[in-house]
Amino acid sequence: MTFPPLREELRGLEPYGAPQLDVPVCLNTNENPYGPSAACADDIANSVREAALGLNRYPDREHEELRAGLASYLTADTGPDGHTITPAQVWAANGSNEVMLQLLQAFGGPGRTAISFAPTYSMYPEYARDTHTGWVAGRRADDFGLDLGAARDLVATERPSVVFLPSPNNPTGTALAPAVIGELCALVGDSGLVVVDEAYGEFRRGGTPSALELLPAHRNLVVTRTMSKAFAAAGLRLGYLAADPAICDAIRIVRLPYHLSAVTQATAVAALRHTDELLGQVATLRAERDATVAWLRDQGFEVADSDANFCLFGRFADRHAVWQGLLDRGVLIREVGPDGWLRVSIGTPAEMTAFRTALTQVTGDLR
Ligand SMILES: *Cc1c(COP(=O)(O)O)cnc(C)c1O
Repeated sequence: MTFPPLREELRGLEPYGAPQLDVPVCLNTNENPYGPSAACADDIANSVREAALGLNRYPDREHEELRAGLASYLTADTGPDGHTITPAQVWAANGSNEVMLQLLQAFGGPGRTAISFAPTYSMYPEYARDTHTGWVAGRRADDFGLDLGAARDLVATERPSVVFLPSPNNPTGTALAPAVIGELCALVGDSGLVVVDEAYGEFRRGGTPSALELLPAHRNLVVTRTMSKAFAAAGLRLGYLAADPAICDAIRIVRLPYHLSAVTQATAVAALRHTDELLGQVATLRAERDATVAWLRDQGFEVADSDANFCLFGRFADRHAVWQGLLDRGVLIREVGPDGWLRVSIGTPAEMTAFRTALTQVTGDLR
């Protein structure tokens, strides 16, 4: 027996690790490059101080004030014939990754299967593994959209308990049409959940609706969001979902008691008071994204359409050499997605200039 006596299926595996390197230009984890203002930080600090005076007590297990704040934030994004999202439809945890783990703890498990369509978010199979949930990945179409015929077949053969649909997708940036999501919800029916991961929802292009609009029509639909990306609060670790209240109630069975600390709740509630400021650069980032896509195409690269704050571009015979060449010039991007492609997050104009300059040099040298 080797020590420590780790579960058989976990032996020899590496932990999640986007490289955290100290380089001048970090365009590898899709963070918002614009941090909170000093005034916003002061308000957060005051709220945290208030919470600190009560740290001898456990926090609100049901995080009710936070759920109310998130519900009204989401209600504003329910489209032209908007509907109200109530606090009972909202659940939050330490990052949307914890939300997804909780979903699998409650709705996955031995004998059950979760599916997605590759290329898809690299963490889903790990959460399936950690919860003993079966994992099957179908394939997306060549343009990274969803092939409904293939999706229908996969649902029919696997009868999944959970379907993960990131939209906009990571690493491709592709958003799914509501009709496709609605059809999958109907196909899966009451025996499973369709989880639309909208981590990048706020970056979607004009005319691309949120799956939040579909909530009244499909009780098996779950829409997840996060404060890590557009909301400029990756360091906070706060993710959340909107779904039927019965789904939130089910999660309460598996969540650890007091999983959201009083400090986290105070910070998130305070941050929500500054929604306009924290989302203030989203329009700039979307414009920078569109300009980056256009520039990369002008250079002759293939670029996936993006509704997110990053773009996937290629194709390179040796993508690692390009990634390394950029890193040697102080620009860190991500080697992820289908072979031959690279992903760059959208940063400030100065960071994008550094990226363009470095990429021109590197690919010039390799040509
Ligand atoms: C970044 C990201 C998340 C966010 O995770 P958090 O745990 O909320 O930071 C979720 N889903 C996808 C697809 C992502 O890329």
